[in-house]
Amino acid sequence: MTTYILTAGDARIGRLVELAAGPTTVVVVGDGRTAAAVARTPGVDRVLHVEPAPGAPAETCAAAVAGLVADAAPALVLAAPRPADRVLAGAVAARLAAPVLTMVRAVEVADGGVEVTRSVFGGIAERTERVTGPAVVVTDGGTAADGGTGADGGTAPVVDAGAVPADPAVTVTATRVAERAAVDLSRAPRVVAAGRGVRRQEDLALVEGLAAALGAEVACSRPLAEGVGWLPHDRYVGVTGQHVAPELYVAAGVSGQLQHVVGARGAGTVVAINTDPGCPYFAEADYCVVGDLYEVLPALTAALAAPGPGAAS
Ligand SMILES: Cc1cc2nc3c(=O)[nH]c(=O)nc-3n(C[C@H](O)[C@H](O)[C@H](O)COP(=O)(O)OP(=O)(O)OC[C@H]3O[C@@H](n4cnc5c(N)ncnc54)[C@H](O)[C@@H]3O)c2cc1C
Repeated sequence: MTTYILTAGDARIGRLVELAAGPTTVVVVGDGRTAAAVARTPGVDRVLHVEPAPGAPAETCAAAVAGLVADAAPALVLAAPRPADRVLAGAVAARLAAPVLTMVRAVEVADGGVEVTRSVFGGIAERTERVTGPAVVVTDGGTAADGGTGADGGTAPVVDAGAVPADPAVTVTATRVAERAAVDLSRAPRVVAAGRGVRRQEDLALVEGLAAALGAEVACSRPLAEGVGWLPHDRYVGVTGQHVAPELYVAAGVSGQLQHVVGARGAGTVVAINTDPGCPYFAEADYCVVGDLYEVLPALTAALAAPGPGAAS
């Protein structure tokens, strides 16, 4: 039983290697430097390096990659949920006539089949599924902590699987760099999140003030990022947004719909501030503050700024 891992030029595959069963081959669609870095990841037995045409996206190599995978007939093909990897994985799966299983939290290979546990219904439930035959599994992995530093000590051979000529059916017409938050919210030790209880963009200063006093990062619910665009897309928390696990999560003017709450389930202590005593967040939070965020946030910020009882006068 072998496992294949697909990466569209990103060397951070450490967690995928942990999930692999049996000898592990990584197909790197990208440059030689990435292939060399992947080869130094412990647990990788072999690297197949596929070189796309200059400027061509990784999925233009899908037919070549599918050929390599089909030759080995692995039961399990893994990919990280990064955008380019997902596109490559889908295009390869289509050519293999294999299913793509996304949002996978755990995977096991046994009796020639693949059993996965997936998040379903927006992350509020898990379902276990069994697939016989090859399966392409997109699972957690590919974070900054996932290796790929090139200093990890593995020594897998790199096999040059060849350059793939440009695909005339695919033309890159524009490239736009995605706006990114300056921080990785998933690693923030404290987070203050703003919801629709904040009435105007300039009022976010109240949230920023408390965040500064706590040494926290600012986050928000989806409507503030995707609806009115007051904060960047990668500042919103939830099932379709960031997953955070801070020691302290303060949700101000956030109602507590499941799609938001799921993204902060890893938080240690949750404080919800809301004018509505019946808001769903109060069923989840450790501390429930029934009050107007326009009064509560400045009061908390001032209290944090005030010298403690033991401070010298
Ligand atoms: C497929 C799908 C995926 C989704 N994914 C996400 C996701 O990843 N993340 C996400 O956040 N949402 C997501 N949503 C949207 C989600 O369902 C909610 O609509 C959203 O989370 C609500 O945001 P909110 O709590 O800020 O706003 P609201 O639900 O409008 O709540 C605002 C709250 O503020 C309170 N309030 C009002 N004024 C004040 C005040 N002055 N002081 C204190 N409290 C006040 C109100 O009582 C209310 O509880 C998703 C929806 C769908 C359908």
